[in-house]
Amino acid sequence: MTLGTRLAAAQQPQWEDEEELVLAVKELATRPALVSAGDCHELRHRLAAAARGEAFVVQGGDCAERFAASAPGQVRAKEQQLRRLGALVGELSGLESVLIGRLAGQYAKPRSNPTETVGGQVLPVYRGDAVNSPEPLPEARRADPARLVRAYDHAADALAALGTPGGRTGIDGPAPHGPELPGAPGPEARSSRQREAVFTSHEALLLDFEESLVRPDAIVGGSYASSAHMLWIGERTRQLDGAHVHFAEQVNNPVGVKLGPSADPADVRALCKRFDRYGPPGRLTLISRMGRGAVSERLPRLIEAAAPFAGRVVWLCDPMHGNTLPHASGRKSRVLADVREEVRGFLAALREYGAYPGGLHLETTPEPVTECVGERGDLERADALTRYTSACDPRLNAEQAEELVAFAARLL
Ligand code: PEP
Ligand code: MN
Repeated sequence: MTLGTRLAAAQQPQWEDEEELVLAVKELATRPALVSAGDCHELRHRLAAAARGEAFVVQGGDCAERFAASAPGQVRAKEQQLRRLGALVGELSGLESVLIGRLAGQYAKPRSNPTETVGGQVLPVYRGDAVNSPEPLPEARRADPARLVRAYDHAADALAALGTPGGRTGIDGPAPHGPELPGAPGPEARSSRQREAVFTSHEALLLDFEESLVRPDAIVGGSYASSAHMLWIGERTRQLDGAHVHFAEQVNNPVGVKLGPSADPADVRALCKRFDRYGPPGRLTLISRMGRGAVSERLPRLIEAAAPFAGRVVWLCDPMHGNTLPHASGRKSRVLADVREEVRGFLAALREYGAYPGGLHLETTPEPVTECVGERGDLERADALTRYTSACDPRLNAEQAEELVAFAARLL
């Protein structure tokens, strides 16, 4: 895709070697699409159902996915977690679910500060495995362009381990691109699996990576981002005159935009107009991440601003990013009671202002971690975060994620 001169792009790494960056981008441009345009359109169609209140999205996974997590066992554990959460939604609300992983490409992180001090040493921050490595050493923190190509390879591995779509068509389905196996499920069984597809998503942060994976869309024309079915734009890069919004406008994928407490109604109206100008509904997902204290005050005006697009844009609640608090140790944590409170406020605001709650955007892991705590008081307990393996933000473990999704589903 020729974008010409790029608009101002926030949060891009200071790559250590420009020539290597050019080589990496050239290499990526030769690679096959990671996901198909057809599956991206299928997700848009499913998101349109969520916009009409006929389905509920569960989007979840790591804050920062590690390359090593593309191992098949880990990917399948995450897939199963999403399926379990979707099944809970079905049981408790009767709604179909739309399952979207923060996986197979969630390798880049926006950061509040470019550096951090570890043991008296000032180091560049960790920006995700596609950029550098979290170990607190200067070599590890160099922004290495060769990591962009590794990110592609790990995303391809993760997709291959995933069920539908993108990779294999199921545990006992045909191999990717392989011949139909004898006894393979027929078209009907496949279409029922298609309904339970797990789609992939990540933050479209690194524009060198995303632009080099743009491919022609043979289905409806134009082009699409082939790195994931859905991309989202983060709270720190959603400037209307910035390069991330401009990039996302030019691809056909479903696009999410995070909205924090500083988002105003004019921003939301402009995003709706720019992303939802034509084509079928489901193109734009607005992801509210206000924090439990701000949601009731800030969200209603944004819902009103998007009212002309009701039934076309999806409203999701990310109850994680506005509720980050320090544990006594200094580590980031989140209190489940706060997270629940934001979900409650989100659902109440959507209901009051006549829009459908489209789903949840969560940071989750199937691993038995203790990164988020139950109550505020737990933040003072020295032993509250004993199993903490996140490379970035604290995630809900399986039990916490199920409790939260059940809480939301019962309120639907
Ligand atoms: C994230 O989803 O990990 C993230 C950085 O979110 P936000 O852009 O909403 O802060
Ligand atoms: Mn995060």
